[in-house]
Amino acid sequence: MGIPDEDVAAVRAATDLVALIGEHAALKRQGRRWVGLCPFHGEKTPSFSVNAEQGIYYCFGCQAKGDAITFVRETEHLGFVEAVRILAERSGIAIREDSDGGRDARRRNELLEVMEQAASWYHERLLQGRDAGTARDYLRSRGYDGDVVRRFRLGWAPDGWDELCQSLGLDPELATSSGLGFVNRAGRLQDAFRARILFPICDPSGRPVALGGRVLPGSPDPAKYKNSTETPIYSKRRTLYALNWAKQDVIRVNEVVVCEGYTDVIGLFGVGVERAVATCGTALAEEHVKLLRGFSSRIVLAFDSDGAGQAAAGRFYEWERKLELDVVVAAMPVGSDPAELARTDPEGLRRAVEGARPFLQFRVERILDGADLETAEGRARAADHALAAVGEHPDDLVRDQYLMQVSERCRLDPLLLRRRLEDLRRSGPTGGTAGGRHGSGRAETADTTGGYGGVWQEDRSGGPGSRRQPAFETQLGGSHRPRGRGPGEFRPGLEALRLAIHRPDDILPRLDRALFRDELQRMAFDGLIGSADLHHAIDRAPLEVRELLVRLAVEEPVAEPEDVIVQLVRDVARAELALVVSEARGAPELAREAIEMAARVQELDDPAASAEATDRLLAWLVVRSQMSGAGRRS
Ligand SMILES: [Zn+2]
Repeated sequence: MGIPDEDVAAVRAATDLVALIGEHAALKRQGRRWVGLCPFHGEKTPSFSVNAEQGIYYCFGCQAKGDAITFVRETEHLGFVEAVRILAERSGIAIREDSDGGRDARRRNELLEVMEQAASWYHERLLQGRDAGTARDYLRSRGYDGDVVRRFRLGWAPDGWDELCQSLGLDPELATSSGLGFVNRAGRLQDAFRARILFPICDPSGRPVALGGRVLPGSPDPAKYKNSTETPIYSKRRTLYALNWAKQDVIRVNEVVVCEGYTDVIGLFGVGVERAVATCGTALAEEHVKLLRGFSSRIVLAFDSDGAGQAAAGRFYEWERKLELDVVVAAMPVGSDPAELARTDPEGLRRAVEGARPFLQFRVERILDGADLETAEGRARAADHALAAVGEHPDDLVRDQYLMQVSERCRLDPLLLRRRLEDLRRSGPTGGTAGGRHGSGRAETADTTGGYGGVWQEDRSGGPGSRRQPAFETQLGGSHRPRGRGPGEFRPGLEALRLAIHRPDDILPRLDRALFRDELQRMAFDGLIGSADLHHAIDRAPLEVRELLVRLAVEEPVAEPEDVIVQLVRDVARAELALVVSEARGAPELAREAIEMAARVQELDDPAASAEATDRLLAWLVVRSQMSGAGRRS
């Protein structure tokens, strides 16, 4: 069962890992690596690193690691075989397989293909169809010219029974499971969309996975908007309309504008805000936010958040804390949406996005602005109302600052308001549950994301008695990368392995296992020298070795092979010499060897030591290691 190894290797080799991960997270080039915010955990400073040449990623924050196949498995929640199939499809590689386990992936591809055909068919119909004249006129009247129609691949579903299903030759099974059609009560296959302008909904890489349809004005159909049903390739809670088009600008600006409708998105693009997405007929869900978090740490809500927002306030604060992002609100005139503002007041729409305010500030201001602050009674009512909103925020420092604003504008004593707020929180719906301070939550997260104290940062190369020290701990902050060889900074064993991964031709032939005194490092070296390539070595290695290899693959070597070898030989020779000397104490026949070796080791300490001196010592180390066997030292 399964897929032959060489096919797996071919798929891996053909996959551009940076492009693949780029669909989920923004990566920036840094030297030979790519770094970015980790798509697997929330963070504000990048701990996620990709080695494009080797096709390996590693996160220094959460230790997520792997190759293209692992990445697809983790992000799409698929098994190994399915992940390989998806990647094979992506890079156009044919794979052999001998089981029926491919059904899911084949199914997905089949659905993606039929959605692509349908999107094209509907789009052509809008551009060319005689029956689409009214739709074209309507779109033009809304300011949608040909460029907009083409850019967003808008379509027209004709007012017929089964034109799409007939034209594409869809059988009832495929039509139904793709959401493009259904079998009516008369047992006849019918198109799901009829007499509607269609908005293709794509996955982040731009493949249509669903359709959203809007009726023309005056239609007898009571449902103004209609979306595809959920299918194996379309989950509403995980899909954001237009993310495929907005992605680049979202990454560039580090901000994403979330609206409610397709036309809102198009309106925002129209005024130059090309980082807008929309939920597809559902409220903003945590899955959406997690998806967006891979691209940006600032979410601008561009919908009237008075009603929906109030209900969701708790979740916004929770996401801000848990996913380390900022949720802000673009304040628009009450009752207007971005689509409308784009037509009536484009400058105002841009200003609203640019001037987006923290969610709580927006709410408090809206409450106070709408209140009667002329009378004592009015101010008291407004204060109560505003305090209820303030009380929902989990951070007491944030709460207190808004409380001061309320105090000022309502002319009430802050002490009095604080007492009132405490009462509210004790008795209110959120009282008691929103205990912990915002700040402490962040601090906890920061420890796991920013800290380099994880297991892989421990010094594993030191001999007996060496303390555990951070090794190459600044791999990610290029600015303070250690170049010196101070204590604990230069670990020749690890650096040699790094070079063996990144520049194998320059160093591998000159290394010997005798140079690796650390058990784990020696195993890693054995794995590298005994494998066809890095992935082969990783696949066959025990878990600990695998983790070491993956991490080293995303770290850049900082030393030259020649220097590393000299350093390695010198270190190992010193340690061996110490052993010889101690052995010689009980065995005088060894004394001569010990003295001879001491001289050679000393020779190597001379900065002008010759290459031959190194080679001689290395040869001696190799012989000793072979004579005594690897098991001598435990
Ligand atoms: Zn991570």
